Amino acid sequence: MEKLLRGAPVAAALEEKLKTKAAALREQGVTPTLAIVRAGAQEGDLAYQRSIQRRAERLGVETVCFELPGDCTQQALLDVIDRVNGDGAIHGCLLLRPLPKQVDERAVCDALSPEKDMDCVSTGALARVFTNRTPIPPCTAQACMEILDFYGVDPAGKRAVVVGRSLVIGKPVAMLLLARNATVTVCHSRTADLPACCREADILIAAAGQAGLIGADCLCPGQIVLDVGIHTAADGTLCGDVRFAEAEPIVQAITPVPGGVGSVTTTLLLSHVVEAAQK
Ligand code: NAP
Repeated sequence: MEKLLRGAPVAAALEEKLKTKAAALREQGVTPTLAIVRAGAQEGDLAYQRSIQRRAERLGVETVCFELPGDCTQQALLDVIDRVNGDGAIHGCLLLRPLPKQVDERAVCDALSPEKDMDCVSTGALARVFTNRTPIPPCTAQACMEILDFYGVDPAGKRAVVVGRSLVIGKPVAMLLLARNATVTVCHSRTADLPACCREADILIAAAGQAGLIGADCLCPGQIVLDVGIHTAADGTLCGDVRFAEAEPIVQAITPVPGGVGSVTTTLLLSHVVEAAQK
């Protein structure tokens, strides 16, 4: 196995399959279509939206944007979600978050139909991940699984340690690993002796959102380390939750930041749209 588990070849392999599926759907008169719902114009959201649109165009997925002002009401957002839910030509929806503070984000997320929820933000979609029934997992959590699969790491029977218990990454990735028969430990900010827990892992998923939290004291030879964290260092460079320079000489394989988990997520979002259109 390569030492560096890069995301680009994983995304490229997924995109090849995706293009073929999208083209077949178009031949049948179905255009896989993603709705992007955005409230306000945060630079980060705009950049993410542009990168999705570029990739979608390349892969044959149509995008429709619903743009609301940053001071929009909760009802205005709920009306858009209602429209998306009821529109048969829209197969999936991405709700850019966080939503403005005047809005009850949970209520808006939960209004989205689980079938159209492409990044698993609704309670209904999460329930499917937790019960392992036709899940559309959060893209980042699924990206971890795709990377393991691409590089030939079978989680079955392995000890997996997930650092982080958010609904976006930590908990769903733990469920996906469990569904693939790993023995899973979930760590969080109140875990006693985090380094000792991490050293037990065959597969370590770092998703704490703390730059450089995981260092040599947490690592052992033979481990597969997936670094989900993304942080901008003082000098403007990107880094992860894992101190890469310390980890790389110790572990068997590790995802880089940037160029690791994050490079697979947008492709998975579009892949969810094509799968939804197939259904
Ligand atoms: P989050 O909601 O802040 O959750 C962080 C989790 O880590 C919490 O469960 C927290 O524990 C735990 N944690 C924090 N400090 C810890 C510590 N010192 N020791 C052990 N556990 C600790 O973050 P998130 O949304 O899950 O995101 C995690 C990271 O992934 C962020 O860096 C984010 O930027 C990145 N991210 C990457 C992608 C990608 O595509 N690669 C996508 C989304 C997010 P408690 O529950 O006890 O507070």
